[in-house]
Formats: sequence, C-alpha cells, structure tokens
Amino acid sequence: MPELPDLEVMREVLAERVVGRPILSARAARPDILKTVSPSLDALAGGSFREVGRVGKHLVLTVRDDLHLVLHLMVAGRLVLTGSKTKVTKATGFVVTFVDGEDLRLVENGSIKRAKVHLVAKPSDVDRVARAGVEPFSEAFTPQFLAKRFAGERRQAKKAITDPSWIGGVGTAYADEILFAARLSPIRYVNTLKDEEIERLWAATREVLRAGIERTRARAKGALVAEAAREAMQVYGKAGEPCPVCGNPIAEIRYAETRTFYCTHCQAGDKTIADRRSWLTR
Ligand SMILES: [Zn+2]
Repeated sequence: MPELPDLEVMREVLAERVVGRPILSARAARPDILKTVSPSLDALAGGSFREVGRVGKHLVLTVRDDLHLVLHLMVAGRLVLTGSKTKVTKATGFVVTFVDGEDLRLVENGSIKRAKVHLVAKPSDVDRVARAGVEPFSEAFTPQFLAKRFAGERRQAKKAITDPSWIGGVGTAYADEILFAARLSPIRYVNTLKDEEIERLWAATREVLRAGIERTRARAKGALVAEAAREAMQVYGKAGEPCPVCGNPIAEIRYAETRTFYCTHCQAGDKTIADRRSWLTR
C-alpha cells in the first residue's frame, strides 16, 4: 500500500504534470469507485486542477475553493498518465480526460478493488479526511503531542502509529522502519513509553519518512510510481536477514493481513515475541 513518502512524491509529480491542464471530462469506469453523487462529475468539465494536496493517504486535487477531487488508492491503486486513445482496461477505475488528449487514470490490478474517489465541495466532506490525524511534518506533530495522545492508551506501538486518525500517512512498512529506528518494540504499549522513548519515536518518524521521500523521489524521476524503495528498507520485508545494526536475524510477526518485521535484540530486549494471536490486535 502506498504510504506517506509514496503519496508525497505522487503529489509532487501530479502538481508538476496535471496542474493547469484544461479538463474535458471525467468518468468512473468502475461505477462503485465513486463514493459521492453531488457535485456530479460534469462539474469538472471546463475546469482545471489548481493545486494538489495530500491529507494522510488521500490525494486532494483542487479545482476551485468549492470543488475537490479526493483520491484514496488503498492497497493496489495507482495513477497513470496515458493518451486518451489508449484502451481503457478492466483495471481502470476512474478517468480524467484533459483537452490536450491525455488522461489521468486510476488503475487497480488484481481482483480486490478498493480505491475510492470523491468529488466534494470541501475535502472535509470526506469522512476520513475530516477525522485525519496529525501530519508528521506539521508543526502540531511534537513529542508533546505524542505524549498526550498516548497517555492512558493501552495500544501497541505499531497499531498506534498506523492509526490514520492519530497520525497521517504511516502504514505497515514505514511503521516497522520507524520503530526500528526508534529502537522500540512494535507491541510495546504506548502508555508505558518514557519521555525519552517518545522523543526517539517522534524523531525517528520524521527522519524515516523524510529519507523515504528522498529515496522515492530519486527513483520516480518525475514519473508517477505506485510505491517504491521498499527494498532499501532496514527491516521491512527482511525476515531472516541480518539486522543492519547488530547482525541478529530480523524476526517477523504475522497477524491477519499484517506482517511486522523487527530486531529482537535492538527492539525487544532479546526476547522473541511469542507467536500468539494477541499480537498487534489493539
Ligand atoms: Zn538489531
């Protein structure tokens, strides 16, 4: 699933490549991808995107103050720019056609199609945008914010930092990288974190995401890329490989659809976390 660094680079590329181009039309190639009915898609015709923003994992393409196209790519969605005459495949969910003969298409390969498109008068008309958590690069994201947010919350660290209503844009891959950089166990209850540990988590969040943006930007080279730079990660997807800090093998937790990678030595005081169903459930 694309996370903050992937989406931030997509946002930059879209700002570069679609802003200001007159829109001919827009349509939902897969009807249920569109989650709103009013305003109708006809409202986009004749307009153009003025700016591209991001709220958590949503991309917000603004036409005017009271018209915004909000996209959530979910697990497998990606955006492509292609000639309007290119065949619209079954994987295509949504199409914006520009007057100049190119389309911006939202494509989802695979059988599970979960991407969502909203056309709204204000971004907060999308419920999950209205309830979005703090942005990691905003001024509001401070160690004090985390301390307050975590106080009294018996939730595991990975669950906490991937909750989109708490912190925007952190998903399972970057969460593992952040917790590794902060030397914290993914199942540590956040209400037990000491001030210095919260400070480490805060700093690691920004460092890891910033490095992720730089790597992703370098790989994208101005193109729309779905998600990138996972192979350059320290622990995510590296089960059995040596920890880059201590050399012990990276361990893995599997729970439901979520996989979590961590170093038992660096993050868990040398205790292998038992393979129980209670992991990462709260
Ligand atoms: Zn280690």
